[in-house]
Parts: sequence; structure tokens; C-alpha cells
Amino acid sequence: MTLFDKLSQERRARLVAERLLEQRTRDLDAARHETERLSRALTAERRKNQAERSGLLEDHQVKAREDVEAAHRSAVMAERRLWDSINTLRDGFAVFNAAQELVIANQAYLGPFSAFPEVRPGIGYRRMLDILAYEGVVVLLEITPHDWVEMMLSRWQPDVIVPTEVQFSRGDTAKIMDRRARGGDIVSLVRDITEATRHESELQEARLRAEAANRAKSAFLANMSHEIRTPMNGVVGMAELLGDTPLNDEQRLYAETIRSSGEALLNIINDVLDFSKIEADKLALHPEPFDLERCIHEVLILLQAGARRRRIDLLMDYDLFLPTRFLADPGRMRQVLTNLIGNAVKFTEKGHVLIRVTGVEAEGGRLQLHILIEDTGIGIAAENLDQIFHEFAQVDDQTNRRFEGTGLGLAITRRLIEMMGGEIWVESEQGRGSCFGFTLSLPVAEDPPQNPHVPIRLTEVLVVDDLLINRTILERQLSAQGLVVTLCDSGESVLEHIGRMQRGERPAFDLLITDHEMPGMNGLELACQLRSAGCDIPLVMLSSNPAMLRDHPSMAHFHAVLQKPLLRRELIRQLQLLSAPVALVQKLAAPVPEAPAQKAQGRVMRVLVAEDNRTNRLVFSKMVAGFDIELEFAENGREAVEAYARFKPDVIFMDISMPEMDGREATRAIRQCAGGAQVAIVALTAHALADDRESILASGLDHYLSKPLRKTLLIDMINRYMPDDTRPPVPIPRQSA
Ligand code: ADP
Repeated sequence: MTLFDKLSQERRARLVAERLLEQRTRDLDAARHETERLSRALTAERRKNQAERSGLLEDHQVKAREDVEAAHRSAVMAERRLWDSINTLRDGFAVFNAAQELVIANQAYLGPFSAFPEVRPGIGYRRMLDILAYEGVVVLLEITPHDWVEMMLSRWQPDVIVPTEVQFSRGDTAKIMDRRARGGDIVSLVRDITEATRHESELQEARLRAEAANRAKSAFLANMSHEIRTPMNGVVGMAELLGDTPLNDEQRLYAETIRSSGEALLNIINDVLDFSKIEADKLALHPEPFDLERCIHEVLILLQAGARRRRIDLLMDYDLFLPTRFLADPGRMRQVLTNLIGNAVKFTEKGHVLIRVTGVEAEGGRLQLHILIEDTGIGIAAENLDQIFHEFAQVDDQTNRRFEGTGLGLAITRRLIEMMGGEIWVESEQGRGSCFGFTLSLPVAEDPPQNPHVPIRLTEVLVVDDLLINRTILERQLSAQGLVVTLCDSGESVLEHIGRMQRGERPAFDLLITDHEMPGMNGLELACQLRSAGCDIPLVMLSSNPAMLRDHPSMAHFHAVLQKPLLRRELIRQLQLLSAPVALVQKLAAPVPEAPAQKAQGRVMRVLVAEDNRTNRLVFSKMVAGFDIELEFAENGREAVEAYARFKPDVIFMDISMPEMDGREATRAIRQCAGGAQVAIVALTAHALADDRESILASGLDHYLSKPLRKTLLIDMINRYMPDDTRPPVPIPRQSA
């Protein structure tokens, strides 16, 4: 290789190397530029990041600061509001610490201390009390400042601080109520009660006025009732007497309407009076021993006449094993029973009314009685059941509109039963009948001495009654006395049994008890048929109207007539009579009202009546017309006292309201006379309130009859007080209608 070649080769190599170097240098520059760019970018990025981070921190700090400020502001605001509110309170508010120093108090609390700048937070409670007492800030009546301060300090001793009242000399009255709080603090609230006290005394005054008005209303009602009852005595009594005279049908209808309308009016007066008493919480119960079975019986007898007219049977099913004497208010019990049974009879056109009495033993010698009054009458629609115990509630529909009433009876009955601690309810189906029931828990009263124990020596008894319920009740009552009972539902069936007996196909019957009115053959016809068939079985008749039967010729066949519904005691007495030897029969028979002993010996009974009203004297004399008594009238209390000394009556009927000397005063005067302490004095009064009754009996009268007089009650009273040495005052028997 030539040098040239070599040189050219070297140059080429150098050129290549130079180009390579250039290339490398360029690459290096590019890389350096890129590095610088990246470094710049990085720096920029870092700067940016730094800036962002510190901005955020700052934001947070600002925000936190703002929040704190806001919270502070609202806390201040809340405190200010709270304090403003406490300050706007008309009630005083203060907090004392455990050392009994004032911590905080509102303006109302500090009001009474405005003249004493030392009263501010930090002052002691005792010093505040001293200021109140010794500086005359509070009015102290009948207590020294020292004692008052001591009393107020000792108030704070117990755990529970009793509120107290203070009267400020500026004229207002406050009630201080203190409570213990956490850490031994005491929070004190002072309430202005000036208005409330004034209001209370106004209310008190209003109440007194209302009570006075109510008393005036009661007195007005009592007086009105008295005023209405006095002439009504004449109306009802005379109408009753008129009914006993020979009248044609039209006249009888008029007389009967006058009597029943008069009685309806009296019932309304009684209802309204009772209701106003219950409303005024003035009605008090006066419990005493009474015979529940007899009471129901008497109510049934009173309603018997009305029921008989519509041929409704009145039945009583008194549980055989239940005592009959209880402690309760007899008048109110009678009222409840009269209302419920009276309604049952009133709203029943046909069928029966049945009174069921059952009971279970309760604690403390009491019995939980369950009394049901079932009827087969018009019933009550379901939608009316709820309201009938409300006052003036009467079902107003076509079936009901023809019955009269006030709509107060059930409301009064419910209230009375509730007052006696019982409950009343009703179940009813329209068109089928109603069942009213009530429960009462009553203490059992001692039984009065019974009839001498006479064994019942009868074995087989035949009973005939067309009514299944009656047969069932009789069967139970007779079986309980150990008798074998055969039941018949008609006279024909009795004749069959007797025929078999006469043919010796069955054991002999000792007695036949027959109902009076039965479809087909009645009790009287049955008796005649038996006798003409040669059967001499003893006969006892059950009748809802014994008086009507008394003079009937067929009655000669009967041993006795018993009033329906039957009193268990009466039935047993009859069974005893039929078993007893003759001497005892007379003794047992003595109290039977249907067959009084006819002893015509002895002097005549003397009856004195003090009554200022001429009509009432006339009514009285007519009611006892035909009685074997000597009757004398006095026209006022003074005359009654004189007549007592001269006439020596066996019983005195004493009107209470009379001119010159009233019945109470006259009774007191008679009680002072020789023998006057023993004479029976019966009040006659037109007052109908229970309190009147109490006050009348408290004046020394033995008994009480309210007007209008009822003949039966009057007769009962005269019989009750008949002395041993007089002839019975019974009326000469008269043909009854
Ligand atoms: P009233 O004086 O009208 O009888 P009550 O308060 O005794 O007043 O009875 C309210 C109403 O309840 C009656 O008017 C009657 O509609 C209804 N009522 C009460 N008892 C019965 C009953 N046994 N059968 C059907 N309805 C009755």
C-alpha cells in the first residue's frame, strides 16, 4: 500500500471518526438538553407541589380558626340567650353552691334585694335571709324574724326540700321551690303565685256560691215535691177509694186513669228528685239488715195487678241454698228492683218475667249476688243497647212509643248499683226479650229466729202448672224438702194420675199444688172434679190474685191459697202446717195474712191521726172505713199531744208539716208524757228524700209512710202495731171486684 493510499485511508478513517465524534457530541448535547429540561421540569414540578401543599395547610388552619370562632360566637350567643331567657322569666332563679353562697341569680330573684347592693354572687344564703326578715322585705305574721330565718335555714336540711310560700311587703306572694343539684348545689325557683292565689280564692268563692245555689235547688225540689205530693195524696187516695165503690165501666176507667196518672206523676217527681240528688253527690246509702227474697216478692206483688191484666206470669227463682238476709239499703234495693222488674213488666206484652237470684261466697262473710231479670217482651235493638243507661234515654221507635216514662230510671239504677259497688249490664234481642243483670257483693245478715222446727211429714206431691219454668222452680223447691214430686202441665193430666192412684196403681199423693189460671181446666174446676171423683187429697192453690178467690165457693176445697210468685218460706210453712199436729197448726197459721185468726174478743184498737189537711183526713178515714178501730183526728201537733193524753191511742199517724206545732215537735212532747215513750208513732210525710226520712226517724218516730198513702201499707202498719189485748182491726170482709 502506498503512502498515499495509507494517508487517504487514514484520512477516511479520521473523517469517519470525526463524523462519529460529531454524532456522539450531538447526541450528548441532546441528552444534556433533555436532562436540563427534565431537571427544570422537575424543579418546576417540585415548586408547584410545594406551593400547593403549603396552601392547603394554610386553608386548614384558616378553616379551623373560623370554626373555633363560630363555635365561640354561638356559645356566647347561647349563653346570652339562656341568660336573657332566665332574666325574662317572671320567676326568680338562683343557684347556690355547697357552701350556701349565691353563684348566680336572675333579675326576678334579685328584685326584692334591689336596695341592697351587697346581694350579688358570693353572698351567703343566711345573710340574704337576714335582709329579707330584718329589713322588712317579707311580711311575717305571727313569727319573729329570728324564728323565720331559722325555719328557712332548717328547710334546707333534708334531702328533699319542702316548698314554702312567702309574702313580700310590696304586695306579691311567691312560692319557693328548692332542689338539690350536682356537687351540693341548690337550685332555687321563686314563683309568683299572686294571681293563682287570687284566682283560687275567687274559685273558692264561686264554689261556695254554687254550693249554696245547689242547696237552694235541692231545697226547692224538696219543697216542690212536698207541695205536689200533698194534693196528689188527695187525688190518688180518692181515686183509689172511688175504685172501691160501685161504678159502671166508664166511670171505673176514669177513676183508674186518674189514679194511674197520679202515680205516674209521682214517679216522675221521685225520679227527678233522685237524679238531682245523685248529681249533687248528696245521695247516701243507709245499709241495714233486710230480706232480699221478700223484697223481690213485694215488688212482684205490687206489679202483679198490671201483669195480670196482660196475663204475664211473674216468676221468681231464688237459689235454694242462698241466704235471704243481707246488709244493704232496703229502700234503694227496692228502687233498683222496682225499676228493672217494672220495666220488664212494662215492655212485655205476653209471656213471662222471671227473676233469678244466685250467688257465690266471697271474702269476709259476703256473698257475690247475681240477679237477673229476664223478660219475653219487645226487646231492645243492638244499636240502642249502649245508650239506655244514660239519662233521659228512651228507645224511640214504634214499638216503644206507647210506653210512658222519664228515661231516668235506668240511669238512676245504674248509679245506685255502682254506688253499692256492683255492676249492671243488659243483653237483649229485639222482638224476643231482654235480660238485665246486676252483681252486688253484700254482707250476709244474721237470720232472724225461724218458725219452730216442724218436720215435713209429706212424701208424694203432685204439682200442676201450665208453665214449664214454674213447674221447674216448684220441683226444685219441693225436692229440696225431701219430697217426691210429680209434675203435670194440665188438670186433665192430674185427673189421670189421681185415677191411677185410686186404682192402686201408684203410691198415694199427700198433696196437690195447683196453679189457678191454666188453659182448659183451671185450678178451681180441677178441685171440683177431684172432689166429685171422691178424691180428698189436700189442695193448695197458687194464685197471682188470692183476694179475688177468697169468696169463691170452690175455695172450700182448698187448704190454702198462696200468693204467686211463691215465697219459699211460705211454701215451707204450708208444708209444715199440713204435717203438724192441730195445736201447732193454729200457732203456725197465726201470721198468715190470707187467713187471720178470727178472735173477736178484747177491746177495740185506738188510732190517732194528726193531719192538718182536710182532704187527707177524709182520705185516711175512707181508707180505714169498715175497720174495727176507734179513730180520732187532731188537726195540728198541739191537738195531737192533748188527744194523746185523753185518748191513749195504740198507734199514732203523725203528719210532719203542720201549723202551730209540727209532727216532730209533737212527737217529742208525746214521748215526754206518761206511757208516751212506748206508743207507736208513724210519720206521714210528703217529703221523699232519704235525709228527711233519717231526720224524721231521728226525731223519735218509729216508722215512715210517704204520701200519697197506700191502703195496703196503711193496713199493714195498723196490724203491725196491734196490741195483744185488742180485737184484730181487720176490715169486715167486703165483696171484692
Ligand atoms: P223509662 O222511664 O222510659 O222506662 P228507663 O231508664 O227505665 O226509663 O228505661 C229507658 C229505656 O230503656 C226505656 O224507655 C226502654 O226504651 C228501654 N228499656 C228498659 N227496659 C226495657 C225492657 N225490659 N225491655 C225493652 N226495653 C227496655
